[in-house]
Amino acid sequence: MKSNFANPKLRAELRSLFAQQVHEDVQLRNLSYLKTGGHAPLLLEFSHEHNLIPILSLLQAKGLNYKVLGLGTNILFPDSPLDFIVLKPVLPSKQLLAPAAMPATSNFAASPAQLYKEEGMKTATLHVTAGLALIRALRIAQSHGCLGLEFFLGIPGSVGGAVRMNAGVAEREIKDVFVSARVFLQSQRHIRTLYKKDLRFGYRKSKLKTADIVVSATFRLQQANAAEIQIAKKRNLQKLAERREKQPLAKPSLGSAFKNPPGNYAGKLIEACGLKGRSRGGIAISSKHANFIVNDGSGSAQDAKALLDEVAETVWNRFSIRLATEIVFF
Ligand SMILES: Cc1cc2nc3c(=O)[nH]c(=O)nc-3n(C[C@H](O)[C@H](O)[C@H](O)COP(=O)(O)OP(=O)(O)OC[C@H]3O[C@@H](n4cnc5c(N)ncnc54)[C@H](O)[C@@H]3O)c2cc1C
Repeated sequence: MKSNFANPKLRAELRSLFAQQVHEDVQLRNLSYLKTGGHAPLLLEFSHEHNLIPILSLLQAKGLNYKVLGLGTNILFPDSPLDFIVLKPVLPSKQLLAPAAMPATSNFAASPAQLYKEEGMKTATLHVTAGLALIRALRIAQSHGCLGLEFFLGIPGSVGGAVRMNAGVAEREIKDVFVSARVFLQSQRHIRTLYKKDLRFGYRKSKLKTADIVVSATFRLQQANAAEIQIAKKRNLQKLAERREKQPLAKPSLGSAFKNPPGNYAGKLIEACGLKGRSRGGIAISSKHANFIVNDGSGSAQDAKALLDEVAETVWNRFSIRLATEIVFF
């Protein structure tokens, strides 16, 4: 249902109920890694189940639609104002790790991460809030002597976005470290604990629907000694250097624009069509990596959409292969 988000009564009610959680007329280009997009009339932040539930109750009572935004590293916002509310998970506080001795349920509301080392075992679990950046989850794990999240390096998204997208690299994806997540399922109007089998992860997808919300997630780690951590950190630096060499990381982008079709690479197909450097307005196919679109600062969402359509059509005409976007259209 469309709603008049300029309505001063609605805005006043939201402000009075949710105070600092409410942001009005937010410029989306500031929240997008591609630096495009119009504005969100209303954006509401939440850090935990406790402050998400009252928001959802109110939105339901008023029949207001919403979508969830993570760190905006995979989303193409439209140039026009959004006709739904944006919900955004944020960190509960600056304190990044609750004391490990605390029981699983005790203090999570005050901390975005809790790590549990299973005594006498080689494994550990890391419980993190949806708004935490993957790189921070990785650093928390390594600084507490645990490995397993190394593939997070170079993926600039949040935990929630990564679970939704089953983010990953060729060798490893979220599903390989995933234990469970607390998820608001719109169909059931409840927050539930979901396990790997429930999410049916696939290549850059899960079964979560647009209005489902990942509130937190638990990942399985391995305990490691100091030498093993040092080796992993060195390897991290190498991997980052490789990414910098192959990907246009200095320019605004959304990572891989298209999913790789079975047995092939989207970038290879796009390059073979001679499309590297092709542009629409301020958006161009990167000359460094053909599966990245980059913004020179003046590009719009419309430019990006037109370029993505052109690429898909050109690849189809040349190879009869349909490219599906990895980028999410908000
Ligand atoms: C330079 C660069 C490199 C990248 N490299 C990789 C890579 O190697 N591998 C890879 O997989 N991806 C990569 N990406 C893409 C992106 O970082 C991942 O898809 C990431 O998981 C998206 O997380 P996000 O928080 O930014 O989500 P967003 O972009 O904000 O959202 C993506 C989708 O997830 C949904 N979503 C976000 N948060 C939640 C939540 N809490 N609950 C439910 N749904 C939610 C959104 O509604 C949207 O549908 C790259 C991106 C960039 C810019």
